Amino acid sequence: MLLIDTHAHLYYDNMYENLSEVLSIAESNNVKKTICIGTDLETSLKSVEIAEQYENVYATVGIHPHDSKDVSENYLLELEKLSKSNKVVAIGEIGIDNYRNHSPQDVQKKVMIEQMDLAYKLNLPIVFHNRDADNEIFDILKKNPFHRALSHCFSSNLDFAKKLIAHGIKISFSGNITFKNATNTEVVEEISLDDFMLETDCPFLAPHPYRGSKNEPKYVLTIAEKIAELRGETLELIALSTSKNAEQFFNI
Ligand SMILES: [Zn+2]
Ligand SMILES: [Zn+2]
Repeated sequence: MLLIDTHAHLYYDNMYENLSEVLSIAESNNVKKTICIGTDLETSLKSVEIAEQYENVYATVGIHPHDSKDVSENYLLELEKLSKSNKVVAIGEIGIDNYRNHSPQDVQKKVMIEQMDLAYKLNLPIVFHNRDADNEIFDILKKNPFHRALSHCFSSNLDFAKKLIAHGIKISFSGNITFKNATNTEVVEEISLDDFMLETDCPFLAPHPYRGSKNEPKYVLTIAEKIAELRGETLELIALSTSKNAEQFFNI
């Protein structure tokens, strides 16, 4: 069985310090490929370095909405340079976060659109973060071209999921769908097998019953099991379809 963690921040100390062990434990839980996601120039570089070191790790480069207020004048050029590595498989994570609002909204939008343009030019897909920003994000996705797009850590409602899917956008589910108070299990149950992938978003958001402890790529298995249970399908089917979707999306 093959599972893929499509969203991991492997450069945080708690994983980075013993990364080969973290990845081999993941592998023994069938999580055999991982996408390491950059959030600013420093962590994008780190993600590329990790991906170049480990055969089954791939990288994305990009500026998170939280960090959009701190971009340098030439950040797009820097991202473009980093994306020359053949282990870079997407631009991200980009997006809008109206929940924490660490950057002004107009700056978040501008930086998201600029990175979409870059991804389009480089023929790369985008991975986006959406927190309480359904309308703003959809407006941007409608007005700006993209090759492929993935809505990571999906936490919006079924209507919005359908809207994204109708626009050709894929969704990824994280540990939040395993929580006792999960509100979006309806989305998990209703959408087609072709439209979603799996992620941990580690080191944040460990799935139930590990909530509160440190999250790692190995927990994709726990998330896949929960999805299989919610949908009344086999774990093998969930693994097969989500891995196929991720391999096609990221071209890995
Ligand atoms: Zn995110
Ligand atoms: Zn993330």
